[in-house]
Amino acid sequence: MAKLDGKVAIITGAADGIGEASARLFIQEGARVVLADIDDEKGQAVTRELGRNALYLHTDVTLEADIKAAIDLAVREFGRLDCLYSNAGGAGMFAPIQDIPVDAFDQTVAIVLRAAFIGIKYAVPIMKTQGSGSVINMASVAGFRTGDSDHSYAVAKAGIIQLTRTAAMELGESNIRVNCISPGFVVTGAFQKAAGMTREAYARRIPKVKEHFATFQPIRRACLPEDIARAALWLASDESSFVNGANLVVDGGLSNGKTWTQCLADMGQIGNVLLG
Ligand code: NAD
Repeated sequence: MAKLDGKVAIITGAADGIGEASARLFIQEGARVVLADIDDEKGQAVTRELGRNALYLHTDVTLEADIKAAIDLAVREFGRLDCLYSNAGGAGMFAPIQDIPVDAFDQTVAIVLRAAFIGIKYAVPIMKTQGSGSVINMASVAGFRTGDSDHSYAVAKAGIIQLTRTAAMELGESNIRVNCISPGFVVTGAFQKAAGMTREAYARRIPKVKEHFATFQPIRRACLPEDIARAALWLASDESSFVNGANLVVDGGLSNGKTWTQCLADMGQIGNVLLG
């Protein structure tokens, strides 16, 4: 028996990156999935490939009505909703605070944090009627440490971690689990978009990106979207049925601090200063 047999999931931001890898894995493991995204061309192409257990809906997660429509579609076409996976997101404006327009800040918070709140708001009545559910929110190591992102993204991701906790405490009493995942750096198109590159130009740089990302954490390889998808699969499945309110950090050890190699280099430098 596959891990998600009989389950229905909505994945936002499912046209690309972590969301796409998750949609592929969820379907492979028996789920029926609504892929919700604004990139219609890619979203529809992925959905076609995935076959009859996948549906695509143009869903701008900054719009309450769009999120509600995705949830309605899942229930109408697939008959239930077992997993709401709020994954859509993107970096904010990387600039000093004084240079960030308030609208830009609001936009990042809307995509990253407000969307997850809206999703829970509309998914919960259905999950309560069913007597179970799993909500997965996409957080980031940027939500609990500094130095990994712009201000608005970091703040919104911190909000996601806390929303996960507060919602878990309320909804756990209804057998609805709410958890989040905090990746470190994952090789996805997010970096292509942030750098304003074409897909083709980014594809050519991917080997270099992987090489570089491999140096960030003790696990000496780059994190791939599939690494995060496997964590999401576990949270969506009954194997994690006693996990609630968790921030599952999937970062190869990145957020624990310096790697041993960096530590040795730093200690060596201190030695040089002391001993000349
Ligand atoms: P990605 O750019 O590859 O995919 C993001 C998807 O979200 C795209 O398909 C995009 O079209 C969609 N999207 C953007 N705005 C949307 C909107 N308003 N409504 C609906 N869909 C929208 O990025 P990714 O790296 O796969 O990111 C997925 C999630 O993982 C994000 O929440 C991101 O913050 C988080 N994350 C990524 C990394 C990383 O290093 N890539 C690290 C930590 C957390």
